[in-house]
Amino acid sequence: MNQEPQLNVHNKAEHPPMHTAEHLLNGTMVKLIGCKRSRNAHIERKKSKCDYPLAQPLTPEQLQEIENTINNVIAQDLPVTFEYIIVQEASALYDLERLPEDASEMLRIVHIGDYDACPCVGAHVESTSQIGHFRISSSRYQDGVQRIVFRLGE
Ligand SMILES: [Zn+2]
Repeated sequence: MNQEPQLNVHNKAEHPPMHTAEHLLNGTMVKLIGCKRSRNAHIERKKSKCDYPLAQPLTPEQLQEIENTINNVIAQDLPVTFEYIIVQEASALYDLERLPEDASEMLRIVHIGDYDACPCVGAHVESTSQIGHFRISSSRYQDGVQRIVFRLGE
């Protein structure tokens, strides 16, 4: 009995450093701002964006703190590891609202050190130093939605 758990097919090509940065941004927004993980994200190699419904816009200080916090996590070179659990167990521990209706019985939980954990079938770096430097290149607040645009670099 050493079968790979059956997961949903992942049909989106992602840039692993950018996608892993998306995990860190979501985890940091939950911790620092108290909102939910983004349900509207566009992740691309060069430039990515995540939207968060918020009652008021983030201040420049908050944006700076988010950026600094993420770069601090990247600098710690935390390992990205996987754990497989059944959906019923996961529902008590994680926000599963983003899961597709036909989600598999087994979920893969992606852990970034002890900093962040969420169900995901995407492609990730092996440890956070592979992400590179995280920079919020612009932000916009409109109609109750905070958009954060970010880039990775040296
Ligand atoms: Zn992921």
